[in-house]
Amino acid sequence: MASNQNTTNKTVICPHCGREVPPVKRCPHCGQILPKPEKMNGKKYKLTPVEIFLLVLGGIMLSVALVAL
Ligand SMILES: [Zn+2]
Repeated sequence: MASNQNTTNKTVICPHCGREVPPVKRCPHCGQILPKPEKMNGKKYKLTPVEIFLLVLGGIMLSVALVAL
């Protein structure tokens, strides 16, 4: 599987001239200041209830095993 590392190379569309430009402060074509690119990472890692349950279960099992030994 090839790694898709295109996120570091993404370009933005300049709202002033409509050209595709690298995410820099100023557009290299028209010289206007570019707006900051919107962050797409609204997805923070969250534990699902199942994962929390499994973690708690794992802890209980571990403590039971420790007590039993
Ligand atoms: Zn431009």
